[in-house]
Amino acid sequence: MEGSPQPPQPPQQPASKHGQQRHAYNEQQDIASRPCQSCGGQMEFNIEHQSLVCAHCGSDSEIVHAPGAAVVEQSYAMLGSRAASGELNTHLEGEKEIICQNCGGHTTFVGTTTSTRCPYCATPIQRTDIHEAPDRLAVDGVLPFQVTDERARELLQTWVNKRWFAPNEFKKYSSAGSFKSVYAAYFTYDAFATTRYQGRRGDDYTVTVGHGENRRTETRTDWNHVRGVVQDSFDDITVLGNTGFNDKFVGELEPWPTQGVQPFSPDYISGHLCRTYDRDVEDCYRVARQRMDAAIEQTIVRDIGGDHQRIEHRQTDLQGLTYKHVLLPIWLLTVIYQGQPLQVFMNGVTGEVHGERPWSKLKIALAVVAVVLAIVLLITLVSLGRSG
Ligand SMILES: [Zn+2]
Ligand SMILES: [Zn+2]
Repeated sequence: MEGSPQPPQPPQQPASKHGQQRHAYNEQQDIASRPCQSCGGQMEFNIEHQSLVCAHCGSDSEIVHAPGAAVVEQSYAMLGSRAASGELNTHLEGEKEIICQNCGGHTTFVGTTTSTRCPYCATPIQRTDIHEAPDRLAVDGVLPFQVTDERARELLQTWVNKRWFAPNEFKKYSSAGSFKSVYAAYFTYDAFATTRYQGRRGDDYTVTVGHGENRRTETRTDWNHVRGVVQDSFDDITVLGNTGFNDKFVGELEPWPTQGVQPFSPDYISGHLCRTYDRDVEDCYRVARQRMDAAIEQTIVRDIGGDHQRIEHRQTDLQGLTYKHVLLPIWLLTVIYQGQPLQVFMNGVTGEVHGERPWSKLKIALAVVAVVLAIVLLITLVSLGRSG
């Protein structure tokens, strides 16, 4: 979706809408983690039922959103004034934060946590690692988990089994590591870009040069000045706000089906871990802007046409730049292998898996020996056949 050339669309989001929706959103922040109506036990977001289910007595309850809640694009230009008013800094009632002593990873949860190990490095969590959650930028939306715990373990097992050289320790992940549902912090950006450019277009032509035996054709390029205006529309450029994840593998979980993002309710994260962002909305914007600029460059190159293109000057005007702070669902496996944490990531909606595969030297050596023996056997059989 991102960066692809699309017919120009007018910028959306009238500015007046934001203020009105913010009010509804602030009310959402007051919904704390809800105890079970029947027994007072801890309610957790149940992926299969897409509702809250009591971990103690099993009674369930619908997800509660604030009245009129909607996933709202936030104006990036308004960021400064909203920060100054203190509107951006909120935290959920009863939300706690774990700071891992080994890797420094920050994780939050509502109510009680069943985690005994850090989801990022599999180090056992100490009681002293748990603190009150700090204030942070309000969450605009959440993409609820769709892949259940049971299904996630099946998909993971299939993934591990296909790695022929995966060592046996890796397969025993359930005892050696941590396998957790974690909502990762992302920022998504929308914008409509109008870019004026100047440059040169090169068209190749061939000429015949030389005489007699030296007669040959050569390719030459005719360069001409060009200028123009291109438009790009960007929808949900998704940037990970967390450090400590393997960026390559997490990147491969894209594209995220962001059309399924729901208005934020703490109900969705009850019973699951949640990662607070390490890179803020402005840091992540720099990454998004680089991706936009790369896409704009491609649009200009296509617009210039010809065989070669040079862009000498370009000026981009961004309109309707908005962001959303969203939580996206990842099943995260962390195993300690030879003293190092290895991470495997699963998209919590599509079930797609990407991660590290440790190569067992012993298994590779055995496979190499087997291939060599097969070749030796083949040669022997062939030469026996010839002599016989
Ligand atoms: Zn109950
Ligand atoms: Zn850790």
